[in-house]
Amino acid sequence: MTANINLPRILRIGAEASQMLPATLKELGLSRPLLVSDAFIVSLGWLTKLQQQLDQEGIFHRSFTGVVPDPTTDAIYEGLAVLRENQHDCVVALGGGSAIDTAKTIAAMAERDQPIRHYKVPQTLDDGLPIIAIPTTAGTGSETTRVAVITDTETHEKMLCMGFGLMPVAALVDFELTMTMPLRLTADTGIDSLCHALEAYVSRRANPFTDTIALASMTAIAKHLRTACREPDNRVAREAMMLAATQGGIAFSNASVTLIHGMSRPIGGLFHVPHGMSNAMLLPAITEWSISGAPSRYADCARAMQLANASDSDDQANQKLVAGLRQLCADLQVPTPASFGISNEEWRQAIPTMAQQALNSGSPANNPRIPNAEQIAELYQGVWTN
Ligand code: NAD
Repeated sequence: MTANINLPRILRIGAEASQMLPATLKELGLSRPLLVSDAFIVSLGWLTKLQQQLDQEGIFHRSFTGVVPDPTTDAIYEGLAVLRENQHDCVVALGGGSAIDTAKTIAAMAERDQPIRHYKVPQTLDDGLPIIAIPTTAGTGSETTRVAVITDTETHEKMLCMGFGLMPVAALVDFELTMTMPLRLTADTGIDSLCHALEAYVSRRANPFTDTIALASMTAIAKHLRTACREPDNRVAREAMMLAATQGGIAFSNASVTLIHGMSRPIGGLFHVPHGMSNAMLLPAITEWSISGAPSRYADCARAMQLANASDSDDQANQKLVAGLRQLCADLQVPTPASFGISNEEWRQAIPTMAQQALNSGSPANNPRIPNAEQIAELYQGVWTN
């Protein structure tokens, strides 16, 4: 099999990388950026800082700050209107996955006139304005993926959009921007990264390039996530988590996510559970169900996360993996759908729609054990209190 790898052209990783926007624009021959961010990031003063740097270099810019969590089609159309007013030649995202996905979709829709839902998978968005991503969570890895996840305002479906037009041309990955993340956001986004790495490693589309990156990401997250949650000022843990998140993005964008993400998106779209948290609600149970499809791959994950050692059999390692994931979710106080406040009635009624949306996204087909709609429905029912 030939692995087909896509990456940003420029990746700057480390403290102060986010201050290199003017230099990066010049390097790429770009001169009229639209900056995309959300109100909370604006309140932290980071957008103003970027704007001042651009002013100092005489670079024309405007901003769209209407990003909403789990970005909606309505928010994208608002941003597109701002883009079209000023003939921008690129879009810069400053924020978490929501800001990055908003910027990506605005950039890819710049010259398109069909509704966004027209372009969800299996369609592709293969061109658009250049995108520069500056992530502030560790995280979705969206800064290195050719993916955007957009919620249809009318149907509430969390749509998966894919294509080369969604791959940032540059990513400025600066862990110092994550030092302000509160515990819940640190935990949820960290588990999102862990799911990216683990799912990429067990995916039917895994390849030797993504394998090494996914394993490195899992090792770092297992070592540093609890510390980053407990000690928000710990620079070593924050830096390691930021790198692991970017690696998770590279791994899954080039190997695909699997059943956890496939089942997670509908929970986010219908019940507004934060993305990383809905992944976490599913992580132990879906891993346990999937292990029989690729036991030795899951055992590698257990060893990479130091949950098992070399002398454990694959079977022992996999039991330790499931127990270790359950412990991690308990330590990070991940709720169940029930304790999050979703009633059993609402959950049961939503299951057929969620199962269908999960299957339609294509992600379950990359799972080592491929489920049908009935099995997905049973898995949803199983995780409600578990
Ligand atoms: P987010 O971008 O939705 O941000 C959540 C909240 O955290 C916002 O209020 C934001 O202002 C705040 N925040 C962001 N950075 C902060 C910081 N440094 N300090 C304090 N607060 C901060 O959260 P996210 O988890 O990064 O992104 C989730 C979205 O990304 C979902 O829509 C998900 O579907 C999507 N996603 C996309 C990809 C991809 O490859 N495109 C991958 C995974 C997830």
